Amino acid sequence: MTLRIKFRDIFRATLSFRTGNESWIGIAPDGGSYHIVSPVDTQISKGVMACNRPSDGTPFGGYKGWVYFRVPPFFEDVGDVETARKEQALRVSAELVDKLERFGIQAIVEDTDQTSDGSTIEPKKESPEDALLCSKCGKTWNKLSACLRDEDLSLLAYRACINDFSKGIYVFEHKCGGSVNIPVSSFIRKPLNNRILAGLQACPGLCYYEHLFQECPAYCEGSCYRHVARKIYQRRKSCTKRI
Ligand SMILES: [Zn+2]
Repeated sequence: MTLRIKFRDIFRATLSFRTGNESWIGIAPDGGSYHIVSPVDTQISKGVMACNRPSDGTPFGGYKGWVYFRVPPFFEDVGDVETARKEQALRVSAELVDKLERFGIQAIVEDTDQTSDGSTIEPKKESPEDALLCSKCGKTWNKLSACLRDEDLSLLAYRACINDFSKGIYVFEHKCGGSVNIPVSSFIRKPLNNRILAGLQACPGLCYYEHLFQECPAYCEGSCYRHVARKIYQRRKSCTKRI
């Protein structure tokens, strides 16, 4: 028996790193069927990878007894997101077939040129107009400085865009539990030194982890955005301590 997996399902499951979500593919114990779990919050996913599985064996709403494979997110290649996504989906497909074979399951990925209905699950892009809006309670801030003064906001994540650091986002958490996304470009202009070392040997890889606010020692365009993230984070910390 050969398990036939539709490429458009894998394509749909391949999410951008910026969404903070990823997907998993579940394979039935008999290798006869599969289903996609998407989107899964990356934090939950990390818990699953650390083997913090719920006792009923059904991580993130999957089925008991099924085997789950992670679909890693892709980094947006600014200007041509669809190509970056498709390339990642093709890589994931090849790896999946490989892994399944090791589990004794024969699988093929069909129709690798079909990506239709794939665009529906991408969340809408942040536009400058709604950048200073809380996603949950709807509170708005009219200026960046108002956001920075507001003690109800704390830096939650820095989502680096490693192909073009000026397109990254600082995510603040509001006290209501919602979030406010502010483009890094609101804080600093794109530096003149546009050397990007992400993914190269000189890169310590900090930008792959959105909850790290460490500075980066590499002579990379991305370092100054990490510096700002660190500053915002420390400022918040010291504000909290004073209370
Ligand atoms: Zn709020």
